Amino acid sequence: MTVRFGGQVDAVALRNALDAGTGTVKDVVEECLARIAERDGELHAFTRVEAECARARAAELDAKRASGAALGALFGVPVALKANLCWKGGIADCSSKLLANYAPPYDATVVRRLLDADAVIVGTTNMDEFAMGSSTENSAHGPTSNPWDTERTPGGSSGGSAVAVAGGMVPIALGSDTGGSVRQPAALCGVHGLKPTYGRVSRYGLIAFGSSLDAVSPFARTIRDVARVLEVISGACDRDSTCLPLPPFEAPQPADPSRLAGFRVGVPKQCFPAELDAGVRACVESALQQLERIGCELVPIELPHAELAIPTYYVVATAEASSNLARYDGVGFGVRAGSELGLQEMFAATREAGFGEEVKRRILLGTYVLSAGYQDEWYGRAQHARTKILGDYLQAFEEVDLVAGPTSPCTAFRLGEKTADPIAMYQTDLLTVPASLAGLPAISVPCGTSAGLPVGLQLVAPAQEDGRLLRAAQAFELATDHHRALPPMLLGAQA
Ligand code: GLN
Repeated sequence: MTVRFGGQVDAVALRNALDAGTGTVKDVVEECLARIAERDGELHAFTRVEAECARARAAELDAKRASGAALGALFGVPVALKANLCWKGGIADCSSKLLANYAPPYDATVVRRLLDADAVIVGTTNMDEFAMGSSTENSAHGPTSNPWDTERTPGGSSGGSAVAVAGGMVPIALGSDTGGSVRQPAALCGVHGLKPTYGRVSRYGLIAFGSSLDAVSPFARTIRDVARVLEVISGACDRDSTCLPLPPFEAPQPADPSRLAGFRVGVPKQCFPAELDAGVRACVESALQQLERIGCELVPIELPHAELAIPTYYVVATAEASSNLARYDGVGFGVRAGSELGLQEMFAATREAGFGEEVKRRILLGTYVLSAGYQDEWYGRAQHARTKILGDYLQAFEEVDLVAGPTSPCTAFRLGEKTADPIAMYQTDLLTVPASLAGLPAISVPCGTSAGLPVGLQLVAPAQEDGRLLRAAQAFELATDHHRALPPMLLGAQA
């Protein structure tokens, strides 16, 4: 019997089957590569498939099993990586012309931990350039399509990783979430996406966008897999000074995983704004009723400063980005333009040729908000607003255990629909940026479809309560079938 991982088999089940002696890692990897070959022409989730590397790894892991050695927590599981994670086996170009063919000389901490857990990395995935965007259209490689409707975007910026999972090409993938880049595509593609507490997972080797916000974040089809990946990648790291000095995450083992008796779930009215799509509202309202049925008490709450979140985020994130991206000057990394020119002109020519339009917009915005004379007015005020947004949550969590609402104000939009209007694109982050600014763990869980497109329920927990968050998400998952829904293109495909 061979092990087939498509559609419905999760990573933990796959690992356990291999551990029990069923099939080989070689079979798993060949099937994974076949799925990618079959589907990725249409979806374009991957920027590169590292087939030879994956095959060599499979042989190594099959030999390890034959030797009788203990097998890692992700033994034989194929994983895809967003192209902003450094991996010695691949190209971390951040979907930017500026970093074309950048082969990192080291592994990110999360990559090292995946490999130490015996995972098989199969390739790198498409993203908005330097993770700036909400649709995976700002990419030097062209856009990624949503498997639910290939005329639509998968969301972004980690759209490629979301589609690699939603399209049944890998059971798990890593992305990065700065303002919603894992939760929003998870919602739009009908999979789970977890942003852990800021600092729970090392950022070492994640190419920086907004350093006070960036979080390496997994996608998976089941909460059990999400928890397994977090167990593997979390924990103290002395190469990231913002990484919390905590032991690795341990998934909670509740007595009755399907009940949340006595849980108080805060429902902020600010998470149901006028512009919320009616179909999204209906799905999320029925998800809240489902939470009630499994024992939660719904408590209306307020997050009074939520309306400041988008402007605050777009000041803080652009300020940090302008500083982080200053290093791409044609000297230390990536592609150089204008080598025949003087130094300053070479820097300018490199940045002009290498960065896309949205990245340039962010650098200009960030440089402006940090410039002499304007710093207090913009950056200082944004920091102040950020503290207020965190304060709203701290106050809410005096009364409730979790906060719940929609992940995204809309379902998957059409390719090209928002590219000409950056503000409309920024507005799609309305519901994910508040938890990012507050550094809180948050997850998007599939909660149904509207007009044939997936909708995500977002749950937010207090800092370091990633376990509570996953427990609630799992109880919801066990009470519903939404996470099993497959895009039409996968129906009929064997499980
Ligand atoms: N869409 C948001 C932005 O464009 C969030 C991006 C992210 O989380 N990386 O900044």
